[in-house]
Amino acid sequence: MSMPRTFREAQAALASGSTSVVAITRAALAKAKADSELNIFLELFEESALAKAAAVDAKLANGSAGPLAGSIISIKDNLCYAGHRVSASSHMLEGYVSPFNATVVERVLDADAVIIGRTNCDEFAMGSSNESSAYGAVSNPVDPTRVPGGSSGGAAASVAAGICHMALASDTGGSIRQPASFCGIAGFKPTYGRVSRYGLIAFASSFDQIGPMAHDAEEVDLIYRVIAGPDERDNTSSHKPFPESIPEVSKLKIGYYDQCLEHPGMDPEIKAHVNAQVERLRGEGHTVEPVELTMAELFVPTYYILSTAEASSNLARFDGIRFGHRARGAEGVDDTFRRSRSEGFGPEVQRRILLGTFVLSAGFYDAYYAQGMRVRRLIRENTLEALSHFDMILTPTCPATAFTKGQISDPLAMYLQDIFTVQANLAGVPAISIPTGTHSNGMPFGIQLMAKPFHDEQLLAHARHAFPR
Ligand code: GLN
Repeated sequence: MSMPRTFREAQAALASGSTSVVAITRAALAKAKADSELNIFLELFEESALAKAAAVDAKLANGSAGPLAGSIISIKDNLCYAGHRVSASSHMLEGYVSPFNATVVERVLDADAVIIGRTNCDEFAMGSSNESSAYGAVSNPVDPTRVPGGSSGGAAASVAAGICHMALASDTGGSIRQPASFCGIAGFKPTYGRVSRYGLIAFASSFDQIGPMAHDAEEVDLIYRVIAGPDERDNTSSHKPFPESIPEVSKLKIGYYDQCLEHPGMDPEIKAHVNAQVERLRGEGHTVEPVELTMAELFVPTYYILSTAEASSNLARFDGIRFGHRARGAEGVDDTFRRSRSEGFGPEVQRRILLGTFVLSAGFYDAYYAQGMRVRRLIRENTLEALSHFDMILTPTCPATAFTKGQISDPLAMYLQDIFTVQANLAGVPAISIPTGTHSNGMPFGIQLMAKPFHDEQLLAHARHAFPR
């Protein structure tokens, strides 16, 4: 049988009795193998996937199946799954087998999803193109000469290629939303604290958030509901109650940053598309108003100062003794650290560790790190103030469509990919990218919608209402 493209289609096929979860899982595994040249999966979990599929079929037969029964999910290679390998796409963690489950992994398994494999990503989730993976770049399924975006490039491609219905990934500065835009799918970064980060290999802990990717906002919503909620194993996970119901609002109040559209790197077709969407929404009776975007020139620098500082601290544990690759033939502790880290980490990770160590160093801490923290607070306050007036704020997800492999070699140019996405991570607010356009170059692109903290459910409902599939 062929693979049902969406989870809805899989559910309908299962309900009609025309297929089984085992058959869908076999089809997904076969498709993943047929597409192996895209380099999406670092590993397929065939045995555990087929065993889980058989168990889900049995539960469907006796009426005890969970809400994700029939779904095929991939997990980014920085999420821990007990008894399975996880490497953060780095040689540093090659061969490491996780002894425990990330909370999100446990929750989707409890909801009866089938996890078919771990997806390629930028090394330690640092990048915007998936080209910094130690295991090679991923190709964009829409056009294999182009990148799928990053760092969750394999995750986005696994859905866009029609292998998986949904993917679990992480977003520190845009890593779910930018690849979603580049591959033509939906990707959601929930409010910081709404989804447990237990079992996520940390990059920058005050920014990292786990979130789902799927073909559209409706299916993103289904998996979000399964993974969201407090977790005693993550102290930053929130106990804030969920909204009891989402009042139906037919006419929304939407803000948009008109200055974003004047950004020098902005693709003229994407700009025209956003303007056309604003006009359409107005035509449908929604209120759409321009909002002033303050401090925008500080978003990317602040993000890179603070996230590299946190990364240098988080990655200190990979020293060849406590965790990670150990260099052969090293002599003494210092030599072991130096050689293990030089061999284990790729160039982008080393650059970030050096930058982060510098901004935290005694002579520069106040000038960079402490100052960065103050600027972040102002960015957060400004963002919350702007969001308080609207149901959601709209921006392009990215200034352009997916670029070709090797096209961006300057790290600073790569960092500017995050221009519209990092604000949500700096402020901790929820943001979704939904696929809304196709460029004349054939590539898809998305629109980003942001909302107030802990308005995740409202944001998903409003996104579906304003941008029906
Ligand atoms: N592109 C950004 C970076 O390289 C974001 C990465 C992410 O969200 N994990 O840091």
